[in-house]
Amino acid sequence: MNKSFKLSSEQFKTVFAGLSEHYCIVGPKRFAGLGRFSDTDLIRYAPLTSIDELELAEKSCFSPKDLVFPPDETLFYFNGQQFSEAALPDNLEIIVLLRPCDINGIDRLDRMFMKNADVIDPYYQRRRSRLHFFMIECRESFENCFCVSMNANRSDNYAAALRFGKDGVEAEVASDKFLETFAVNGSVFEFKPEFVSENQIKVELPKVETMPPEIFTDKLWEEYDSRCISCGRCNTSCVTCSCFTTRDLFYGDSRTCGERRRVWDGCHLDGFCDMAGGHTFRKNKGERMRFKTFHKIYDYRKRFGVDMCVGCGRCDDVCPEYISFSNCINKLSARLKEGAE
Ligand code: SF4
Ligand code: SF4
Repeated sequence: MNKSFKLSSEQFKTVFAGLSEHYCIVGPKRFAGLGRFSDTDLIRYAPLTSIDELELAEKSCFSPKDLVFPPDETLFYFNGQQFSEAALPDNLEIIVLLRPCDINGIDRLDRMFMKNADVIDPYYQRRRSRLHFFMIECRESFENCFCVSMNANRSDNYAAALRFGKDGVEAEVASDKFLETFAVNGSVFEFKPEFVSENQIKVELPKVETMPPEIFTDKLWEEYDSRCISCGRCNTSCVTCSCFTTRDLFYGDSRTCGERRRVWDGCHLDGFCDMAGGHTFRKNKGERMRFKTFHKIYDYRKRFGVDMCVGCGRCDDVCPEYISFSNCINKLSARLKEGAE
């Protein structure tokens, strides 16, 4: 049964220090001056050496997906005779501090990589099995969030849930693994995490069992032909975008020795749809936006029963062309209601 505790800031620092001896603790961290515009900061998931480094005031620009699905990962080495899998750099288990939308985002990745027609991706699984979620309670939205519309604002998939206050931390501990450290350092207390119940941004999901074929060529998508510049920022910042390509890297002049890497790719990027024989699909940016939209809120649901998009709003945060994905979903729903041309 879950148990709850209250800890002063000092007591929680003791918990953090104790856990740091056995786990790598990762959470959103601020990197001053490294943002994409001058004089802005970058906030991304990184190992924390102290709980004071945890960024709570702003949304992270990147999601925690690189913990399970790194942007560039060597899968195995080969030499013409045999291959050997690349070992992970360490065996450390990881405590990751993250919000409910990102827990749900990793659930969407789990379905893609581990529950997809019963095929398990071992490279994903070995990273995923090291993670323990410490959920950061999230009672207020950031800009562009629409997690409530996507039913991704709540989660009970955590080892511990934490409410950070001015004077300390309230915690609900769900995993026996972490019970003792909270029990020894804190005092028993009634606490259950709360969840944001309304976002400023709301989306209406299309209520169709089957997409009418006309919507594939609807003029709705034409807007993105000129606006989108195929930078792929929306893909790289998205917690659920999981497309990749594989690259064989040969060492020196060798034609037999090298390594195979898995590298992030994205449906908005040029080259994503290039095929043997020089064929290319979805040349227009609008077609790419259509593909992404259907994948996030239609195709994935048909396969897994939930939407892929969790409404974190990062794609809207980072798009240099101010393209809003939440607006796109609403436009699609409106077009379906009025009947696509
Ligand atoms: S599509 Fe946008 S809002 Fe949805 S999960 Fe990806 S980044 Fe977040
Ligand atoms: S971030 Fe915006 S401009 Fe860049 S690929 Fe995505 S939709 Fe297009």
